Amino acid sequence: MTTTPTPLRETIAAIATPPGRGGIGIVRVSGANVDALIAAIVGRRLEPRVATNATFRDAAGAVLDQGLAILFPAPASYTGETVLELHGHGSPAALASLLSRCVELGARPARPGEFTQRAYLNGKLDLAQAESVADLIDASTSAAARAAARSLSGAFSREVEVLVDAVITLRMYVEATLDFPEEDIDFLRAADAQGRLDAIRDQLASLLLRARTGVRLAQGLTVVLVGAPNVGKSSLMNRLVRADAAIVTPIAGTTRDTVARQIEIGGIPLEVVDTAGLRDTRDEVEALGIERTWAAIARADLVIELVDARDATVADADGGDVRARLPEGVPRVIVHNKSDLADEHPRIERRLASHVWLSALTGEGVELLEREVLALAGAGNVGEDAFIARERHVIALRSAQQHLEAARVHLHASVPALELFAEEMRHAQSALSQITGEFTADDLLGVIFSRFCIGK
Ligand code: GDP
Repeated sequence: MTTTPTPLRETIAAIATPPGRGGIGIVRVSGANVDALIAAIVGRRLEPRVATNATFRDAAGAVLDQGLAILFPAPASYTGETVLELHGHGSPAALASLLSRCVELGARPARPGEFTQRAYLNGKLDLAQAESVADLIDASTSAAARAAARSLSGAFSREVEVLVDAVITLRMYVEATLDFPEEDIDFLRAADAQGRLDAIRDQLASLLLRARTGVRLAQGLTVVLVGAPNVGKSSLMNRLVRADAAIVTPIAGTTRDTVARQIEIGGIPLEVVDTAGLRDTRDEVEALGIERTWAAIARADLVIELVDARDATVADADGGDVRARLPEGVPRVIVHNKSDLADEHPRIERRLASHVWLSALTGEGVELLEREVLALAGAGNVGEDAFIARERHVIALRSAQQHLEAARVHLHASVPALELFAEEMRHAQSALSQITGEFTADDLLGVIFSRFCIGK
């Protein structure tokens, strides 16, 4: 990214630590007016990047709090502007006073994500990195946090940039051919345009696959469990949950904890919705929970249908209502439970749907199911090279893929249509560039940063 000189922007301030009481609370300030704030609040000069013991004072000179003050002069700071951090005690009241004091001295309360937005605008981070800051803060599993940290370090952006560079190189050859028609096709052949294009397509396909996993890491999966009473839904649920008992957290707001549970398989957060919770009820609170269950079903990524392994005919699991509300094309796994009673070995068979034989009681075969769930949901291998991604990135990669596909058709035509080829390559490049934010509309930036927390 190019670093532009830091423009003078309004000074912004926010409490950067989470609400509530804690050992330490931090007010962060960024902008042109920081020196005046230091003079008024701290009353002494600060060495750059040195934590200095300080007393924070109000306009009358009374003590607001005592703590550390750290100055990061522009451009070597998070935002690229001059930044001041006031580390006080984690008292909501004291922090509020400290923030008011900053505002009194000319700072404006920061909007959500505004510090990171400035970092992006000042070339400290590209857009994909900026997004990963929010994803790291929001990560609900350690695998997701690691993947977000890798994106933040630029791992994803670098792979996108390698692709962009390859597209630019190929465009250069083609544009040269268009400028000097006599060179024409031979020139492109010599430059191995087809080979280059194929290599770009392969790289893009593999990046897209990993970006999808990255989205799963960030957003998690919704898995719906259906099956007749007594087939073993609760037992299976407990099995899946027990594997990661330490991190089980009830979904916020569900009052009947059997309805939906948050679990983790292979680092991917999963919300498992047990349709057994769906029943007629007069209880208002329960009705609310049921409404939420239906909403979860409507956005299901995968369905697990439980049947009894002793049933030779795989009857449709009792899921008529549920199936009607499932989004189209959702992958299904048929689980033949109670394999221990049916004298069946735990195994997997892939027919139209995947079939897994297991025993929720003994736990045999549950691992097969877990692996199949991840594979079907496109969240197979969360390796060390995983990065976090967003739907926006997947859409951009897909769009680039379509343009490359169209470009290939033009190149392979009996009379190669080079102008059209060049045009498609240009579109592919601009789709890719949207990921790192080289060409990004302001309204999109607004949407992205408004979802951050304040103080970040
Ligand atoms: P649900 O009504 O679908 O939630 O079914 P439950 O999980 O409550 O299970 C119904 C009964 O089947 C219980 O007595 C379970 O212990 C039993 N059960 C569940 N899974 C298995 C299994 O894999 N093997 C055996 N032998 N019994 C099971």
